[in-house]
Amino acid sequence: MNPLEILRRTPKDNCGECGFPTCLAFAAAVSKTGVDLGRCSRLDREGLSEADTAHSPAPDHDLELIRHLRGKVAGLDLAAIAEKLGAVFDGERLAFRFLGREVLLNAGGVTIDGAEPEDPRDQILLYNYVHSGGGEAPSLDWVGMESLPNSISKVRTLAVYCEDRLARLFTGRAPEAISSAAAEMDGREDTQEGASLALVLPVLPRLPQKVVYWEESAEDGFAAGVKVLFDRRVLDFLDLESLVFSAERMCDRFTDLLADD
Ligand code: SF4
Repeated sequence: MNPLEILRRTPKDNCGECGFPTCLAFAAAVSKTGVDLGRCSRLDREGLSEADTAHSPAPDHDLELIRHLRGKVAGLDLAAIAEKLGAVFDGERLAFRFLGREVLLNAGGVTIDGAEPEDPRDQILLYNYVHSGGGEAPSLDWVGMESLPNSISKVRTLAVYCEDRLARLFTGRAPEAISSAAAEMDGREDTQEGASLALVLPVLPRLPQKVVYWEESAEDGFAAGVKVLFDRRVLDFLDLESLVFSAERMCDRFTDLLADD
């Protein structure tokens, strides 16, 4: 679809819930890279055909990258690396958790809770994680994205695609509801001085992320904010690109789990 046609169907209020900072950016991403139209829940779908609203086919470069990563994973001894990934090897596939869901993976394919992932970027993330070969268990020595090497360009991306979205999502919700959604992703409450809520989520077994939330304070003039922290050893398991995507996926899961709250 033409990006202007998509833009015309959005409410054009740049709320950011789709993960893009503006409706125009969302429209361009749908048109050019096949981002799912369903990410804007307020899109005017009248007159759209099923083909328009169906999940768009994966861009060729994503499929090419998946093929490449499968080839690399085919050369790994999955039994030998399972423990270092926090996974179990069943003789055929690695089994591990991803945001509270069960992943089965080998060079032949991936399933999440028994189904092939709709978004190819999930496969890229999971294959990248396995291809890292694993490493030491996290030390839970938390750092922000800005403390990781060569991360300058990713700090803003993380804010737009994850932290700002989470701050809007959490605002006005009971902490118990947020904690309950985190528990469905195998997460738990943690502590952080001065924060309204802190949660630790094992996005992947060796890839915990800490979500720190400050409620807005009209009295002090502070807007609500979220900061996502990573274990200091996180780059042993994922490259920066995949790391930001994993945080975006965590935000997507919160969005789904809190949708009916
Ligand atoms: S979800 Fe995205 S496209 Fe929809 S109104 Fe908000 S910013 Fe615009």
